[in-house]
Amino acid sequence: MKIPLGTRSPLDWKNLSPDLVIKIFSRRHKTALTLGILIIFLNIILPFIFIKIIGIEKDVYVSWGLPYTGILLPIGVLYIIFRYRCPRCNAPPTSTKVGAQGVLLFPKKCGNCGVALLPHHPWSTD
Ligand SMILES: [Zn+2]
Repeated sequence: MKIPLGTRSPLDWKNLSPDLVIKIFSRRHKTALTLGILIIFLNIILPFIFIKIIGIEKDVYVSWGLPYTGILLPIGVLYIIFRYRCPRCNAPPTSTKVGAQGVLLFPKKCGNCGVALLPHHPWSTD
């Protein structure tokens, strides 16, 4: 089944089947992880390689490389804020445990409506 991309799709988000919720959230999760890995690679590992290993001047790299790689950081942050959410209730995936705060990286289920998000992922927590 094709999963609609936009939030203006005719899908009835409140009544999504559990399987479809998992499918949609898995895709959002994969995109968020890919962005995170790209951000870390382009803004931490790549500068390290250029400056420490290849020996490019730090100022040269900061003025020529960083404006291009740095653009991914706000994109990643905006993605996490606006799209990394429960497909059913649109809440960010937070922990259900008392005292735990922040957005979960591998949420087993939605902290708000309780629908399963990544129930089969080996690293998922609730
Ligand atoms: Zn939810």
